Amino acid sequence: MKKRVCVLPGDGIGPEIVAEAVKVLDALALPIEYEYALLGGAAIDATGEPYPEATREAARRADAVLLGAVGGPKWDELPRAQRPERGLLGIRKDLGLFANLRPAVLFPELASASALKPEVVSGLDIVIVRELTGDIYFGEPRGIEVRDGERVGFNTMIYRESEIRRIGRVAFETARRRGKKLCSVDKMNVLETTQLWRDVMNELAPEYPDVTLTHMLVDNAAMQLVRAPKQFDVIVTGNMFGDILSDEAAMLTGSIGMLPSASLDEQGKGLYEPCHGSAPDIAGQGVANPLATILSAAMMLRHSFGWEEAAARIERAVRAVLAQGLRTRDIFEPGTRLVGTAEMGEAVVAALR
Ligand code: NAD
Repeated sequence: MKKRVCVLPGDGIGPEIVAEAVKVLDALALPIEYEYALLGGAAIDATGEPYPEATREAARRADAVLLGAVGGPKWDELPRAQRPERGLLGIRKDLGLFANLRPAVLFPELASASALKPEVVSGLDIVIVRELTGDIYFGEPRGIEVRDGERVGFNTMIYRESEIRRIGRVAFETARRRGKKLCSVDKMNVLETTQLWRDVMNELAPEYPDVTLTHMLVDNAAMQLVRAPKQFDVIVTGNMFGDILSDEAAMLTGSIGMLPSASLDEQGKGLYEPCHGSAPDIAGQGVANPLATILSAAMMLRHSFGWEEAAARIERAVRAVLAQGLRTRDIFEPGTRLVGTAEMGEAVVAALR
């Protein structure tokens, strides 16, 4: 049975980097068929909507979605509800993507790109699993109102145990496939919601005897991520803490053009995209780094299709081109060879062989 991938190139550098990822997938001759659709600004230009019905249908039909990026100055003046970013929120919500996986891998060849000392980050390989559809970002009641003559802002931090359990399972499974260490991050000393979070994680642990579960308070986790990030394997946390910690972890690597991500639903269907945006400043110049998108495609093979060997082959090929000294402009250093988007993609294809 062929796997159906909905491809959404999007805007800016999106089409350029997605083309390279598809090139790499094609070179593996896997049983995949593609269906291309429009999202973001490209969809607005063609249909007036950032997430048109045809795209919704294609995304629902697919086994996985591969996305470039959306947005750009051309659409910044539109009312908020019609902007490209709404397309992204729309598809995430529509597909019920509750688990966000963000690996932060620092290839040893790029250790000097990090703001941290090379010995602290070289060889870093962690994954942050962030709950994506709950927590204080969605909790009700919320608002700003006048009480006793002054304005009061309020939000509700809330998690059901079923929501904690399903993200916990994704995290334990992820840890099981890697270094078998899971650190759950909470603030149980102050917040009851996260006391429940910790309790549910502990209840799950006996089902995964091969994984070592530890807990850390979020303030300490923020500190440990810059002090000694290599102590972590997989981190699991709620929506708000995950928002902050995943950006912190991303910056440990120093190169945004290298970072993939996955957002999964309960059946393992996922949306795969680079962590960066549409980079309108370099769009159309053939200089964008396609590696984050290529690595996102590898995540797709692993998480949605269970094709671990093919995923690992792509990751080894990316490593190999970095070891050969090939660099796009964003990761270029003196003594390495500057290449464009297509040349980088072709080098990864060559390294697959
Ligand atoms: P950005 O990530 O697009 O760019 C930030 C900087 O990083 C730019 O200098 C850019 O040239 C560089 N950069 C990003 N990706 C690169 C790559 N692959 N290779 C080389 N350099 C790269 O962030 P921004 O400038 O804040 O946002 C631009 C647009 O992207 C906005 O419209 C924003 O809303 C949108 N955006 C979309 C997503 C998404 O689709 N998931 C995420 C973030 C931002």
